[in-house]
Amino acid sequence: MTVTHAPVLVTGASGFIASHIVGQLLEQGYRVRGTVRSLKKEKDLAPLRALPGADERLELVEADLLTPGAYDGPAAGCEYVLHTASPYTLEAKDPQRDLVDPAVGGTRHVLTACRRAGTVKRVVLTSSMAAITDEPEGDRVLTEDDWNDKSTLDRNPYYLSKTLAERAAWGFVDEEAPSFDLVVINPFLVIGPSVGPGLNTSNQLFADLLAGTYPGVMSLTFAFVDVRDVADAHVRAMETPSARGRYICAGAAVPMRELVQIVSDAGWGPGHKLPKLGMDCAAGDFAVKLSSYLQPKGVGTYLRTHVGRVPRYDTSKIERGLGVSFRPASESILAALDDMARWGHVSQKQA
Ligand code: NDP
Repeated sequence: MTVTHAPVLVTGASGFIASHIVGQLLEQGYRVRGTVRSLKKEKDLAPLRALPGADERLELVEADLLTPGAYDGPAAGCEYVLHTASPYTLEAKDPQRDLVDPAVGGTRHVLTACRRAGTVKRVVLTSSMAAITDEPEGDRVLTEDDWNDKSTLDRNPYYLSKTLAERAAWGFVDEEAPSFDLVVINPFLVIGPSVGPGLNTSNQLFADLLAGTYPGVMSLTFAFVDVRDVADAHVRAMETPSARGRYICAGAAVPMRELVQIVSDAGWGPGHKLPKLGMDCAAGDFAVKLSSYLQPKGVGTYLRTHVGRVPRYDTSKIERGLGVSFRPASESILAALDDMARWGHVSQKQA
């Protein structure tokens, strides 16, 4: 194993995706400098510090996306910067303040720090499918050429924050012509085991599924991607000299009916409240859309823009260009559930 000298900077290092990136970088011999919002949250940071290689090669430092200059120190001396930090929630009290400002301002602060450092060769930005589209678009297959132009502060504001942040990143590169290049990963719904104790917004889907939150099996189709594959995509995007532009990062699209079947077949039915009522039909879609107005705003908009639609997307660029392959969705779903039971987010499977 070759140990590198210049550290790789990973922003938001204790996050769901970032902590897997940190783990894979350490495993491959890199020195890693991770930013976190607070070094005081020792309980959240302990799993990162326990990763193999962390004792010798992981350094954690504080930085907040909203603070100008906060990433200048962390970026100093780095050749690669993986910028993953961004608020991820479908419910925000004030979407401009809580989502857009940190996502966009934070991206600018990180890129400015990279330019000031003078040593950075490449930045890999964690964008999202949310910057590609606001909703599944009929039979049209989405590619890296697509941009979300529908989200607003009222309609899927998290999606808006990701779109504006990625646009700001490309704008920065166009206007400032920095000495580093930018590669962007656009993952769909990231699921799987977690390095730390937190429950990610995307794995929350499974907790809701087991808790009886869904009144029935709806015609929703989820474009899953395993968090370990997303981390692998980031490391490959960093290491592959020919990497360019954006990369859609997604495994298979799984209809809710198939998801419930996978979970039920694996024995998660007894003791949990998996949905049974078949609502994946025209009448069900109508009922879901109507009842979506009773849901919290973010969830309601998501339901109205996704029910009855199937996401279609082309992953050939990331598969051919970066050599990423995706685990079967069932493996990721069941790994997520086992892990959530381990952390106490759902009750254990009955024997
Ligand atoms: P997490 O919520 O686990 O991670 C988000 C990270 O951003 C956390 O480390 C968080 O820090 C950090 N962060 C949030 N606000 C600030 C702030 N003001 N200053 C500094 N750090 C901040 O989510 P994920 O791991 O899922 O998300 C990582 C990235 O992946 C995000 O950019 C997200 O948009 C993107 N993404 C996620 C998908 C998914 O399905 N999970 C899909 C597509 C893209 P702290 O721990 O202190 O809260």
